[in-house]
Amino acid sequence: RSSSENRQKEGHHLAARFYHHLLINTEQGKAAYDYLIARGFSHDMLERFQLGFSPDQPQVMKGLLDKRGYNLEEMEEAGLLLRQESNWELKDRFVNRIMFPIHDVQGQVIGFGGRVLGDGEPKYLNSPETPVFKKNETLYGLHLARQHIRKRNEAVLFEGYADVIAAANAGILNAIGSLGTSLTERQAKIIRRHTERVILCFDGDNAGQQAARKAADILEQQGLTVYVALLPDQLDPDDYLKTYGADQFKTEIIDGAFPLMTFKMRFLKRGRNLQDEGEKLQYIEEVLKEVTNLPKAIERDVYLRQLAEEFSLSFDALKQEQFRIYKESE
Ligand code: ATP
Ligand code: MN
Ligand code: MN
Ligand code: MN
Repeated sequence: RSSSENRQKEGHHLAARFYHHLLINTEQGKAAYDYLIARGFSHDMLERFQLGFSPDQPQVMKGLLDKRGYNLEEMEEAGLLLRQESNWELKDRFVNRIMFPIHDVQGQVIGFGGRVLGDGEPKYLNSPETPVFKKNETLYGLHLARQHIRKRNEAVLFEGYADVIAAANAGILNAIGSLGTSLTERQAKIIRRHTERVILCFDGDNAGQQAARKAADILEQQGLTVYVALLPDQLDPDDYLKTYGADQFKTEIIDGAFPLMTFKMRFLKRGRNLQDEGEKLQYIEEVLKEVTNLPKAIERDVYLRQLAEEFSLSFDALKQEQFRIYKESE
């Protein structure tokens, strides 16, 4: 690895320690600390995830990096500093935000997500893509979760930083985050290195469900067995945990997660009147397509039988129809 990349990581390490210190030990960080505690994060979680606070002073990180002898252009490239358009001078990228350090799998800080205190736009400001921070191959919290993921042979994948932390707070330590909504193939490959099974636990809103569908296919293509946890509309995992508590989250949401095909069937049923003959046939056809695309023959068989039973169809007829879909897709 080039020494520039080393220095970028060292700069992030320094920044993370500084922001964390401000959050935990100083008067400046008190409002942010109180906000996080009021949100339900325990002090232990602030430590576990090394959360921090960037103060409302746009020169503070720049000054610290300068004092420690860092090349400021290099720290701009690392995403810690920004060049101002007005006077072309460098200043801090993160100002007056709660800082979520993002680590690589070895536990070195490579980027940050910065959240506004309370409401404001943009809600999250993330580090840019840099030589050390590649979003499409990073999973939030993996450095902490990986031993738990291996032990259970299962990962729980969330959308948000807050969800991962709230899950860990509730004792779900095999929790990781996708850093936003669209999971990449690289991320799926990395998950597959640690486990064979993933529970998707995305936000209960429409965007979250759409994202879950896409992510599920990407994970399945890497040979992972996928379950989808369904949350009530308008709640995300963090909200749910706060409203209903850890026990209910574990028994209802996590243990109640649906096998992917069952989730897809529910999804395809939405807004359809299955009493209507035409809509029913359309539904069957679409489920059949999904079943046909399943990688495992045993699974195809199971769901074909289930479909036959549900609609009182003959297994052979479905099998024939499936054969036709195969032919078409060739
Ligand atoms: P909170 O609970 O703090 O309000 P959240 O995690 O529920 O936050 P969402 O709006 O559900 O926030 O977004 C999910 C995730 O998507 C965030 O945790 C963050 O990683 C990413 N994200 C959201 N908004 C942005 C943004 N404006 N820029 C970059 N990433 C974002
Ligand atoms: Mn600490
Ligand atoms: Mn959310
Ligand atoms: Mn949330």
